[in-house]
Amino acid sequence: MMSPDFIKPSIIVSACLLGYKCRYNGKSSYFPILVSSLKQYQVIPVCPEVLGGLPIPRPPLEISNGDGNGVWAGSALVLNEQGANFTSEFQKGALNVLKLCRKHEIKMAILKEKSPSCGSNQIYDGTFSKRIIPGSGVTASLLKNEGIEVISEQEWLMGGSSFA
Ligand code: SF4
Repeated sequence: MMSPDFIKPSIIVSACLLGYKCRYNGKSSYFPILVSSLKQYQVIPVCPEVLGGLPIPRPPLEISNGDGNGVWAGSALVLNEQGANFTSEFQKGALNVLKLCRKHEIKMAILKEKSPSCGSNQIYDGTFSKRIIPGSGVTASLLKNEGIEVISEQEWLMGGSSFA
C-alpha cells in the first residue's frame, strides 16, 4: 500500500537525474528507472552548482589536486580548464544543500556519480582528459562528513543503501 505523502521519508536527489536540465552543458542526466524507484519517498531535487550561484550552461569544472575532502581541507581547488577558480561557489552550493538536509531531516542522498559536486565514489581527475579517480565531490564529501548517507544512482538501484 502506498504511504500518504506526509509520512513518506524525505531524500535528496541530484536534480539532473530527475530530468532537470541543470548540467554544465544545459542537459539533464535523466534516469527514468531511478525516478520510478522513488515513489515511496518525498524527493527533494537539488543541484549544488546552481545552489552555489553558477549559471546554466557553465564551463566544465573539475577538482584539481584531490577530491571534495581536499577542497574542504584547503588542499584542492575546483577549476575550469583555464585555471579559473570556482571553489567558493562549490562550497556555497554544498552548504546550501546541507541546510536543506537539516531543514527536512534528510538522512540519505542519491547523487550523480563522477560529478565534482555530486560524485560519491568517483570523480574526474582534474586534467580534463576524462580520467576517473576514486574520490567524492564537494557536496558529497560534506554530506558524508555530516553523517548523511550518500550513494550513487547505480548503488541505489543495486540496493546498496541501508536507508529504509
Ligand atoms: S551539480 Fe549535481 S545535480 Fe547539478 S548538474 Fe552536476 S551532477 Fe547534476
